[in-house]
Amino acid sequence: MITVKLKPGREGPVTAGHPWVFSGAIASITGEGPGGSLAQVVAADGNAVGIGYVNPRCSIAVRMLSRQLEEIDADFIRRRLEAALALRRAVVPPDTTAYRLVNGEGDFLPGIIVDVYGPFIVCQYLTAGADILKPLVVEVMVRLFSLQGIYEKSEGGVRQEEGLTNATGLLWGEEPPPLVEIWENGCRFLVNVRGGQKTGFFLDQRENRALVDTRAPGKRMLNGFAYTGGFGVVAAKHGARHVVSVDSSEASLRLARKNWHGNGLPDAQGEFVQADMFSYLRETTEPFDLIVLDPPPFIRRRQDLKVGITGYKEINLQALRLVAPGGQLLTFSCSQHLSTSDFFQTVLFAAADARRNVRVLKHLGPAADHPVNLAHPEGAYLKGLWLWLGD
Ligand code: SAH
Repeated sequence: MITVKLKPGREGPVTAGHPWVFSGAIASITGEGPGGSLAQVVAADGNAVGIGYVNPRCSIAVRMLSRQLEEIDADFIRRRLEAALALRRAVVPPDTTAYRLVNGEGDFLPGIIVDVYGPFIVCQYLTAGADILKPLVVEVMVRLFSLQGIYEKSEGGVRQEEGLTNATGLLWGEEPPPLVEIWENGCRFLVNVRGGQKTGFFLDQRENRALVDTRAPGKRMLNGFAYTGGFGVVAAKHGARHVVSVDSSEASLRLARKNWHGNGLPDAQGEFVQADMFSYLRETTEPFDLIVLDPPPFIRRRQDLKVGITGYKEINLQALRLVAPGGQLLTFSCSQHLSTSDFFQTVLFAAADARRNVRVLKHLGPAADHPVNLAHPEGAYLKGLWLWLGD
């Protein structure tokens, strides 16, 4: 097996549970294998630190699988998946058939994402090491769960860095239908696994979508960056007077409309606007009682930080301007490169420019089926604020 030897004193983070070894911490790599091969990691004094997989072409050269030198076989994967399932059994609410079963590093399976949509699993293998483990993970999933099909949707920038191309398609069983039906807290949604974003649905926002139910009755709501309508459907089902859903994608809005009708909501209660959110906010004057801003990541690379922050400030400034007195704003950022404190400060600057008194009711984050290893703060990307705009 490949051995990765660390520089003196560089084993600390891994020993404390951090799953990444950066190339700068490595003294030597001995042994050969394709990118993503298993490797034992040892400290400078030769003491074992654990086992991971190594891809020397990446700045995150090693991702740890275990802090013990154990066999990485079907039994190891089974134990990881059973632990992941036990966590979901504890945190996924009833009336909910879609959830994240494996959240990569947060479930000690780096680079592996497994989302459950009823009888279908949609998974992503984001690294070369995850790719190598794929057959084992599929085999164990088939054994553990009663499934109709497992579909792969491995896409994105990380794979490019790892030297991989995108991989999509059926891994086992039946192809999922064009629209898979799921339930979330008693609301019915159709998910476009193949054509949709990520694995098809933003499962990380489930608990925040649930949060709008008690705020909804009688409210006029703006669902900004609506995608397939999630926040708006929940609000309308819980008595929102009127919901305007805005998204730049026509296909997403078409599905948002379907989801609206699929929950028995009347046309008169909803409006679907295909527009750029920046222009929409700037051109709108009529106030809303409740606004949700859930944009795509404006900062995909570290060098986009400044431009991204300007974007967040602009939409928050315009939205804060539009919240009626006594109204509320739920505002989010899912940019991994934007820290929680920088995001909060950006919203503060927006509030100052909007000349509104803003109070924080709650700090928001991803749903509990998206656990983050405490030793791996980089795993947390979604942050949000629930704000009250009474004077
Ligand atoms: N809140 C949604 C998820 C939002 S994902 C949910 O709960 O499901 C972000 C959405 O923003 C995507 O649907 C994307 O099409 C849309 N989007 C991206 N850029 C946009 C822009 N400039 N104006 C409006 N919508 C945009």
